[in-house]
Amino acid sequence: MGFNIGFIYLKPCPFCGNDQLSLARDPYREAASTFMFVVCPSCGTRGPVAYRNDKSDDALKVAALRRWEERADG
Ligand SMILES: [Zn+2]
Repeated sequence: MGFNIGFIYLKPCPFCGNDQLSLARDPYREAASTFMFVVCPSCGTRGPVAYRNDKSDDALKVAALRRWEERADG
């Protein structure tokens, strides 16, 4: 089960202004597929983690993106 961390366009990083953000799974958890978050490759800032629960993988990605957008709004 590969996972492609493609570059995605979201609101820029609120800390460094980078607008090329990645989507990643939490590399420190064994059950890595149950967590996902947006990360800024430039400064290392992470968005809020989205939890899989009963979501499909696509729904989990959308949840992680939404959480970043919410944070960037604040
Ligand atoms: Zn950044």
